[in-house]
Amino acid sequence: MARINRRQGCLIVLGLIFLLIVSSSVVSTTAVVAGRNNNRAANPSLIDVPILNYHKIDTLHHALSIPPQEFEEQMAYLSQRGFTTITPDQLMAYLNYGKALPEKPILITFDDGYLDNYTNAYPLMKKYGFTATIFIVTGLVGHDERFMSWDQVREMQKDGFVFGSHTVTHAALTKLSREQAMEELVASRKEMEQQLGSKPRYFAYPTGAYNLQIEEMVKQAGYKAAFTIRYGQAGAESNPYALERIPIFKGPQTFRSFFVRLNAAPLLERFGLIRN
Ligand SMILES: [Zn+2]
Repeated sequence: MARINRRQGCLIVLGLIFLLIVSSSVVSTTAVVAGRNNNRAANPSLIDVPILNYHKIDTLHHALSIPPQEFEEQMAYLSQRGFTTITPDQLMAYLNYGKALPEKPILITFDDGYLDNYTNAYPLMKKYGFTATIFIVTGLVGHDERFMSWDQVREMQKDGFVFGSHTVTHAALTKLSREQAMEELVASRKEMEQQLGSKPRYFAYPTGAYNLQIEEMVKQAGYKAAFTIRYGQAGAESNPYALERIPIFKGPQTFRSFFVRLNAAPLLERFGLIRN
C-alpha cells in the first residue's frame, strides 16, 4: 500500500465496500438456510459474525481509550442499523449447531475489566438495549481501583452482561511455564466461580498470545471457546479456541475507522488489508 496515495486509497476502500454490499445480499440469503442446519460439518456456509473488541471507554490519550461520545456514536450506529448484541453462548450454539441468531448479530467484547466499562460503557449500552462480554483479570478486579469491583461485575451480570476470564495477572501465556499458564487459567476460573456463582465458559488471551499447546490447555481448564485479537469475523472456518475479533481503536477519524473495520471486514480480512 506504500505507493498508493490517499485518493487512490479512498477509491479502493469505496470499491471494497461496494463489493461487500453486493456480496452481503448473497450472504444474508445463506444465513436463513444456515439457521436450519444442525451442525458445522453439514453447513460450511454459516454467515460470519462480527465480534468487536474494546478496552477502555474514557478520554485518555491512548489508542485503546475510546472517548464516551465516540463510543456512543458507534452504539447509535449499530442500533440504527438494526444490530442485536448476542452472547458467546449464542455464538457458539450457532457455530457448532447452526442454532438461529437474530438477523444482524454482533458480539461486543471488552478486555481487562476497567472501571470505565462500568461507569461509562454500561449506561450507554443499556440506553441502546445492548449487552457485552467482558474478560476480566481476576487479580485486578476488586483489588485495584482502576478496575471494576466484584459488586459492579455482579450488577452488570444481572443485566445480561457476560463475564469471561482474562487470567489472574494478565501475563502472556506463551511466556509462562506450562504449570504457571495452567494456574492462570484454573485459578481465575475458580475465583470467578466463587464471586459470581458459576464457572466462566469463555476466555480471552492476554496480549493476544496463544499457540496450539495453550489452546489445548484452555480447553482442558474447562473453557468452551477463546478469543484472540486476530482481525476478522467468527464463522464456519473459525477455530473455537482462536476466535477472530475486530479491534476498535481511537484515531484521528475513529468513526470512519470503526465503520470500515465493521462493514468491510470480510473483504479486508480476505485480502489481508488490516492486521490489527
Ligand atoms: Zn488484556
